[in-house]
Amino acid sequence: MRGLARTVQNMGVQIYENSPVTHWQSGSLRTAKASVRSRWIVPAVEGYSVTLPPLGRYQLPVQSLIVATKPLSAATWDEIGLSRGQAFSEFSRQVTYGQRTADNRLIFGARGGYQFAGKLRHNFDLTRDEVELRRYLFGELFPQLKNVQITHAWGGNLGMSRHFKPHMLCDRANGIALSGGYGGEGVGASNLGGRTLADLILERDTELTQQPWVLPDGGIHALRAWEPEPCRWLGYNAIIKSFVHEDQTLANPATAPWRRKLASQVAGFMEGFMH
Ligand SMILES: Cc1cc2nc3c(=O)[nH]c(=O)nc-3n(C[C@H](O)[C@H](O)[C@H](O)COP(=O)(O)OP(=O)(O)OC[C@H]3O[C@@H](n4cnc5c(N)ncnc54)[C@H](O)[C@@H]3O)c2cc1C
Repeated sequence: MRGLARTVQNMGVQIYENSPVTHWQSGSLRTAKASVRSRWIVPAVEGYSVTLPPLGRYQLPVQSLIVATKPLSAATWDEIGLSRGQAFSEFSRQVTYGQRTADNRLIFGARGGYQFAGKLRHNFDLTRDEVELRRYLFGELFPQLKNVQITHAWGGNLGMSRHFKPHMLCDRANGIALSGGYGGEGVGASNLGGRTLADLILERDTELTQQPWVLPDGGIHALRAWEPEPCRWLGYNAIIKSFVHEDQTLANPATAPWRRKLASQVAGFMEGFMH
């Protein structure tokens, strides 16, 4: 799907492959090969919003990294308590998620990354340290897997809104319909977003258009903008450091109760900046 420009013209979808959109505005967009005029523009670029100003003010790229183990035996799945294909997360403020694949691997994603000024990452050959951090984290949950072979590692850019919640909006005056801010949970939400935008564009009053994430009035400027740099970068790093400190403090059974409480209070306070 890399490099698709999606426009909705006369309510038919036109797709231009292998030629990213370089400029867009109300009523038209441009690629290296063509200019397109359209009543509606639907910029469905998620984590790549920074490439199409001003979208990047409202949706920033963060990186999500994930690993997969070799296929595990039925006995191992029984032992770690996930033999029925359950997906799981953990009670950290940081992102952790895992699930069993159809070919019996554990895939495990954790933590994320933000690059100064919302720079996109293009190389997702994970470094040894990046892979080993994920091994350490799933090894803490499942000690049986500490030395398991990791056969695959990859990642991608995803879009984060300032509210850390998804949004769907339809700016009828300017012919712009936008859905995004899925924050790493967009497989189902992007499908919902597409159906919701279709209803909004066609002026159908449906259950979808009544949902709280729909902004029926106002254009993209109705969305909350990200703070300018270096505030974002400093904020990201301060928040993550407080989360990591909380995780380490709570994971150590020898830590005094007052330290545990303080670590959680500091992390909770820092988390407040995310809302
Ligand atoms: C490692 C990883 C794990 C994830 N795991 C999960 C998960 O378990 N569950 C979940 O729900 N979500 C998960 N996500 C998030 C999920 O993949 C996304 O939220 C979802 O794919 C968003 O769909 P989308 O169609 O909006 O955007 P995307 O699928 O990101 O598609 C955006 C498209 O826009 C194209 N594009 C970018 N710039 C331009 C341009 N200038 N011109 C034209 N086209 C352009 C891109 O090439 C891309 O094809 C994960 C993401 C990553 C990176």
